[in-house]
Amino acid sequence: MNALTPHKKYLFLIGCGHSHISIIKKLGMCPPPDTTVTLISTDALIPYSGMLPGLIAGHYTFEDCHIDLQKLCQWAGVQFIRGKVQRIDPLNKKIYCHQHPSLQYDVLSINIGSQPAVNDIEGANEHGCPIKPFQQFLDHWQHWLKTAQTMNTSTLHRIVMIGGGAASIEILLAMHYKLRHTTSIHASFTLVCANQNILSSYNERVQAFFKRHLKTLGITILSGKHVTAINQHQLTLDDGTILDYDFSAWATHAGAQSWPAESGLKCDDKGFIQIDQYLRSVSHPNIFAVGDIAAFMPTPLPKAGVYAVRQGPILANNIAATLKKHPLLAFKPQKRFLSLLTTGDRHAVASWGPLFGHGKWVWWWKNHIDRAFMAHSSQNR
Ligand SMILES: Cc1cc2nc3c(=O)[nH]c(=O)nc-3n(C[C@H](O)[C@H](O)[C@H](O)COP(=O)(O)OP(=O)(O)OC[C@H]3O[C@@H](n4cnc5c(N)ncnc54)[C@H](O)[C@@H]3O)c2cc1C
Repeated sequence: MNALTPHKKYLFLIGCGHSHISIIKKLGMCPPPDTTVTLISTDALIPYSGMLPGLIAGHYTFEDCHIDLQKLCQWAGVQFIRGKVQRIDPLNKKIYCHQHPSLQYDVLSINIGSQPAVNDIEGANEHGCPIKPFQQFLDHWQHWLKTAQTMNTSTLHRIVMIGGGAASIEILLAMHYKLRHTTSIHASFTLVCANQNILSSYNERVQAFFKRHLKTLGITILSGKHVTAINQHQLTLDDGTILDYDFSAWATHAGAQSWPAESGLKCDDKGFIQIDQYLRSVSHPNIFAVGDIAAFMPTPLPKAGVYAVRQGPILANNIAATLKKHPLLAFKPQKRFLSLLTTGDRHAVASWGPLFGHGKWVWWWKNHIDRAFMAHSSQNR
C-alpha cells in the first residue's frame, strides 16, 4: 500500500482517456495544495482516436497521434503508474492493480473508455480482433500487412469489418486506401452491419454519401446481418451465411469492463457507471467517472470522444471543489455535436444534425482541429 501522510489528500486517476488529459494539464498549471495526484494507465503512449484512421491510411505517423503520458505527468507533477486496474474497494477506498500493492485514495476518477462488445459471439474472444485497445489492433493489422506483402500478388485477400458505425467505416476506408495506394496487395473488402442502414445515428445524406462511396470503391455492404460466430478463417452470420476471411476486425457497439460493477459501483445493465450531473458515481460521491465508461443520468450520452473532451474542464473543477469542500458545477451536455468523418483519402464529411458537407477542405479542417488538440494535450505546450 502507498505510505500515507496524514494531512495529505490522495487523488487517483484511473485510465487516461480524453477527460483525464485535460485534468493533468490543468494540475500542471495549477497544482492543488496538499494533494498527491497519481495516474494509473495500462499504456504509456495513448492514441488520439480522431487521428487513428489517418494513421492506418498513412497520413500520420505514430508520434503524430500518440501522447507520451510519462512526459506529460512529469511536467505536471503527477505520479505515473503503468498498470491495469482490476478492481476497487469503495468501502475501504482501495485500488487493486495488476502487479502492484493496493493503493489508498480519497478521491478517485475513472476514465477507462469502452471497447467493442464481443462476449456474446462464439469464438470472438479467441479469434476476434476488436479495434480497441487500439495498440493491440494496430499490432495485429501491421503483422497481417507484413505477411500479406510477402505473398504472391495474385493472391486475393479477404478483409471483413464488422460494425456499421463511424469508427468501423473510417478504419475500413483507411485500410482500403493503404492497400490500394501504397501496396500491391490484392484485396476484397466487406462491411457487415447489424442495422439496415450504415451510420444509423447520422442524417440520411451522410448515410447516402458513404453508401455510394463504399460502392464506388467496390466494398460490399451486408446490412441487417449479425455475426454469430467466428473461427480462424470464417465468420458465420445469423442467416447461415459463411464468410471466409483473411483479416477481420470488430467495431461493434461499445461494451464496458466488468470490474466497476463487480466492485459495487452502481452501473447500468451494460456495466457502464451511472453518474449524476456533477459527473460523480450515483452510488459513491467521492468517485467520478467520465467518457465512454460513464452512463450520464438520466439519459446516457452517445459514446463519443467529444463528450469525454467536454467533460474534462467540469471534471477538473469538480475534483478540486470536492477536495476543498466547495460546491460543484453541473455538466450540461450539448444536444448535437459536429462529426467529421474521414473517407480514406485526404477528404472528409462534416455532419451536424441534419447538415452535411464534404470535400478536401473538411479533411484539412479536421486535420487542423486534431493537430491543435494534440499540441494542447502533449507535454508543456
Ligand atoms: C477509429 C476511431 C475513431 C473515432 N473517431 C472519433 C471522432 O472523430 N469523434 C468522436 O467524438 N469520437 C470518435 N471515436 C470514439 C472515441 O474514440 C471514444 O468515444 C473515446 O475514445 C472515449 O474516450 P474516453 O476518454 O472515454 O476513453 P479512451 O480514449 O478510450 O481512453 C481510455 C484509456 O484508459 C486506459 N484503460 C482502460 N482500462 C484501464 C484499466 N483497467 N486500468 C488503467 N487504465 C485503463 C486505456 O488504455 C485508455 O488509454 C472514435 C473511435 C475510434 C475507435
